[in-house]
Amino acid sequence: MISSLSPRRRAALLAAGLIAAGCARRARQAATVPASRPPEASGASPAPARLTKSLIQIGIVTRGEHLTLHPNGTYTLTDQKTGQSQSIESGKGFVVQPGDRSRYLFGPFELQGPARLSPKRADGTMTVGQKRYRGTLLVRPNGDATFAVINELGMEEYLYGVIPAEMSSDWPLEALKAQAVVARTFALQNMGKFQSDGFDLTSDSRSQVYAGVDKETPRIVQAVDATRGQVLTWRGETLHAFFHSCCGGHTGDYGSVWGGGHAPKPLRGVSDKYCRASPQYQWSAYFSDDDILAALQRHGHAIAKLKNVRIREKDSAGFVSTFRVAADDVSFDVNAKDFRNWLGNTDLKSTKVLQIARKKKGYTFLGRGFGHGVGLCQWGAHFMAKQDKDYRKILVHYFPQAELSPYHD
Ligand SMILES: [Zn+2]
Repeated sequence: MISSLSPRRRAALLAAGLIAAGCARRARQAATVPASRPPEASGASPAPARLTKSLIQIGIVTRGEHLTLHPNGTYTLTDQKTGQSQSIESGKGFVVQPGDRSRYLFGPFELQGPARLSPKRADGTMTVGQKRYRGTLLVRPNGDATFAVINELGMEEYLYGVIPAEMSSDWPLEALKAQAVVARTFALQNMGKFQSDGFDLTSDSRSQVYAGVDKETPRIVQAVDATRGQVLTWRGETLHAFFHSCCGGHTGDYGSVWGGGHAPKPLRGVSDKYCRASPQYQWSAYFSDDDILAALQRHGHAIAKLKNVRIREKDSAGFVSTFRVAADDVSFDVNAKDFRNWLGNTDLKSTKVLQIARKKKGYTFLGRGFGHGVGLCQWGAHFMAKQDKDYRKILVHYFPQAELSPYHD
């Protein structure tokens, strides 16, 4: 899909023992894709086939109403059903709205099928909502007066808009490069995950956040370009590469955190001394009895009075797998990831809870880290880069025995 490394660059990496002799293949869709990122339900008709295999399709709007698109540059608008094309220019907005029967309106044009908008020049961008996007856009009616908008662009250009949304662009360059490799690997591994919705990935945290053009910076482009086409593999297969903000001292085992059995060596978790100075390393969070009770009630627990919450079980990396709740005259287990989701992922920052203390009318959770804890610890990468470790060293630390490989579609 993406052109592989130049022979010179590849030879250099081979010499450094950092890439496999083979090329990464798009791995089989694994049965262990985490349940925390479910595919979206949709009754939409499939989008037209992608333009070429070298493009990734990102669902930037799934059920948009009252959409307005503003071209920045000249675009060709083509009705994918009739094949009719129009040229549209910068300077005005095009409102997308339902029309008569199965037709819809794109500004002054009445269309029958999905609309593909292709920029005449490579630097053309389209504003959708508050954000500008590179590449081609597909506007597809969902058949219920809502519309999907799908952005089609090259993997590397896509990453220009992912890295600054997932890591601060003023962080050290080697940390940004490590993030670029992990984000590229994640995209490749999850390609087609939302196929039934007509695109590869969403632009939100169900996939990885993609912010379009506006957050791109020269350093981000430099980090992506310097690692162009490189992905993490293990035994020739693309790795399930994940990332999170801070692991709290030990990254999680993929199999333990998300189930699915024994994880491959690079995903079993590592001890991490590098993130200790992170502001996320240790935290405490107070939840009132009423907050906890309401969260449990909203998720199927018909209880009236909370009596106690404690840690029931944790894994060897310190992540709690189940909490034990006593309420009314019953006790029951709650999956820790569910419990975190119910209380709010930014309020209970991770399931690495060390202690739960009874406080006035509530509980204080003392914990470490921020995020699910699997894969690259971003704060650890930050401090490794500050200590002059390059991105290869960072990746080998968090994904032991993984290889850096160029890939082809
Ligand atoms: Zn860490």
